[in-house]
Amino acid sequence: MQDQLFINGRFVDAESGETLATLNPHDNSVIAEVAMAGKADVDKAVKAAQAAFPKWSRMAAMERGHLLLKLSDAIDANRQELAELESIDTGHPLRDTLGLDAPRTAVTFRYFGGMADKLEGTVIPVEEGFLNYMLREPVGVVGQVVPWNFPLMFTSWKMGPALAAGNCVVLKPAELTPLTTLRIAELMAEVGFPEGVVNIVPGLGSVAGQYLAEHSDVGKIAFTGSTATGKRIVQASSENLKKVQLELGGKGANIVFNDANLDAAVNGSAFAIFHNQGQACIAGSRLLLHEAIADEFLDRFLKLAASIRLGNPLDLQTEMGPLTSRMHRDRVLSYCDVARAEGGRVLLGGKAPDNAELAEGCYVLPTVVKASPLDRVSQEEVFGPFVSITTFRSDEEALAIANGTQYGLGGGLWTRDLQRAHKFARDMKSGMVWINCYKRVNPGSPFGGVGLSGYGREMGFEAMREYTQVKSVWVNIDADMRPYYSR
Ligand code: NAD
Repeated sequence: MQDQLFINGRFVDAESGETLATLNPHDNSVIAEVAMAGKADVDKAVKAAQAAFPKWSRMAAMERGHLLLKLSDAIDANRQELAELESIDTGHPLRDTLGLDAPRTAVTFRYFGGMADKLEGTVIPVEEGFLNYMLREPVGVVGQVVPWNFPLMFTSWKMGPALAAGNCVVLKPAELTPLTTLRIAELMAEVGFPEGVVNIVPGLGSVAGQYLAEHSDVGKIAFTGSTATGKRIVQASSENLKKVQLELGGKGANIVFNDANLDAAVNGSAFAIFHNQGQACIAGSRLLLHEAIADEFLDRFLKLAASIRLGNPLDLQTEMGPLTSRMHRDRVLSYCDVARAEGGRVLLGGKAPDNAELAEGCYVLPTVVKASPLDRVSQEEVFGPFVSITTFRSDEEALAIANGTQYGLGGGLWTRDLQRAHKFARDMKSGMVWINCYKRVNPGSPFGGVGLSGYGREMGFEAMREYTQVKSVWVNIDADMRPYYSR
């Protein structure tokens, strides 16, 4: 297991020699003491990335893509090990890390490996006598800061397009979950990525992350995390007016209409909120039920939620693991009191499981709360297995509730009415809408939000645009052009 910083192709200790423990949220045991980057280490990483940039950016795009393809093969070959490491470090059930996180990481790197040589410029039809063409160029050194909820997958979401477009990267993983990112760096070195192209600097957000966002030799900062930190990143980026891309929080509305297929809606809505212990920015954390089906839906939904199997993430039978840290578990549970104080009712869960085997871990039972749309639990991101339920009577009311937060990341609806489905897709204030499904993602499909959920898009061609800048080149091809000054 790698526990050092990865700078200029080598694993090294932090200049200060400081480390930070990473814990297993199943029992809070220490997995590893990981080197903790300070400003001097971030400086070294940025310098290494700067030095690697000229060669990497001019390398044939197909060759860059080939390295990404080799990396995705290496991830497939090491799937079991990566999945176990991710489960131990984050608490995600192995059935997910093995079946979703690890393969999706490989697929996303593969997608961007194929994309590397598809990034074309254009010729613009301007006035006669001139050729005008547009180049799409990499930004240079890109800083990337990621959270702890999907650390393995985020290596590919962030580094895939950045590297395919010809940038060099300094990535800071979250304090709580650095291990799979360091293993990916090791695989990158093994498959032949040149020194300095990728640098990984685990460390504190307030130190290493903040400094990376301020750094005047970093041309872009791509951030996934909370809205509060996103605002700090924007301020820090003003130092050199670097490009900023923000994937922030969400409070996804998941609307079930009276004509929905209830079997599918119940199952899909449980997945929307309880998958990954609800620690997903796109979680369907607000469930809006048409009052005609609310009782029947709730009856079935509560039964399904109560049957979800909590347990050690390494057990393949486990459907829900622990939350990623004890502090976060306490924060999530504290929202039950917040709900009660405003007149909400906890219908299910709201506490840690009684099971003695899980007593040391960061577990929370699936929690369902009845609340009003303006209550704090319906407005603030809880980021756990915690869903707030509201009922509505009309489409207009459902839309007003759905759009009634400052977030706008993802939202879903369950209906058989085609017109209604497309009308909501048009009118919902969010970057993604799922109809009769929820939380679908694909490397080709743009991912990101509006409002306090941030700006910029990951995935697909949109991501390649985010990691490039445009240059317009004018060529005079008319030798006899009349000069401006006639002398
Ligand atoms: P966070 O903002 O506290 O931390 C995220 C990352 O930012 C960590 O690496 C942290 O060390 C770093 N950081 C903290 N302070 C910093 C600073 N001043 N400067 C630079 N970096 C700093 O978020 P979190 O609690 O770890 O993660 C959960 C949040 O992430 C939730 O709000 C969730 O919705 C959001 N999220 C968003 C998306 C998306 O794509 N929109 C995806 C996943 C998670």
